[in-house]
Amino acid sequence: MKGIDGVEVDPPLPDIRTAIIARITVPHPTNTILLRCELDALKFKEKSGLPFSSTNEGIHHACGHDGHMASLLVALRYTAKHRDQLRRNVIFCFQPGEEGKAGASKLFKAKPDLLDHVDECYAIHFMNAAYPGTIALGKGAVTALTSSLAISIEGKSAHCMMPNVGVDANFIGCTLVTQLYSLIGMKVPPLEGATLVVKQVAGGGTVAKALTASTRKKLEASIKGLIVDENEKSFAGEDFCEFSERKPSCYIAVGSAPADSIDPSNKESKFPLHSPFHKLNEEVFKTSTKIWAAIIFT
Ligand SMILES: [Zn+2]
Repeated sequence: MKGIDGVEVDPPLPDIRTAIIARITVPHPTNTILLRCELDALKFKEKSGLPFSSTNEGIHHACGHDGHMASLLVALRYTAKHRDQLRRNVIFCFQPGEEGKAGASKLFKAKPDLLDHVDECYAIHFMNAAYPGTIALGKGAVTALTSSLAISIEGKSAHCMMPNVGVDANFIGCTLVTQLYSLIGMKVPPLEGATLVVKQVAGGGTVAKALTASTRKKLEASIKGLIVDENEKSFAGEDFCEFSERKPSCYIAVGSAPADSIDPSNKESKFPLHSPFHKLNEEVFKTSTKIWAAIIFT
């Protein structure tokens, strides 16, 4: 980036050294905009089958951030080349640690004045629930900020025939899970919009005992009755709100679904974000780069 004519790159920031802030400025700007993309991948093995799959074992760009980077880099090169037609100052922000690593918040800690002279912020995210050529915008918040927490419960072991002398961490854990789910609605007003998902519970297995075979069978049937398959839907997590809370901002979702990959009956993608099978339709770049160019050269 440093070698591109007309582009100034900020020195690396402390504590978030992989962040890149590049600037293209003009002598008499109408205003200043910041365009942000994410840099990080996810920690699981890529199974997309693409010839250019990740060569880093156990690391997959399953949220399309490699595509976001490519789009923004193309926009940067194009802007540098045509900067004689540019009327605004443009800051290109390549942000690491978006996937639950609080990258945006670290960025503002390292550079609190990042948006001091910025009028508007923009970000693009690809979505595989729509085909290329589709753009989605919303008024107000369109994605959620994600928080993760781990809870450990310490019990006291006892023989399963004498549960009364132990402290059953599994029982406490399960009770806690139902209480956690009740927080949405009970503590957060429905119109504020929030979800909470317990993603993993680990314990020591389940033992069901009964005094007679018929009671044991009844117990087994009741347990099976509790287990229901559900298709999980989720709020997309995003820390772009660190920008949008500070300045007027726009977050643009751009259709990137490979051909024939959306089930018409339920509109679900065969290659969704955050899946080992995730892949993009490269046609998306035609739309994403046009959007960047339209914003930059307005
Ligand atoms: Zn993402």
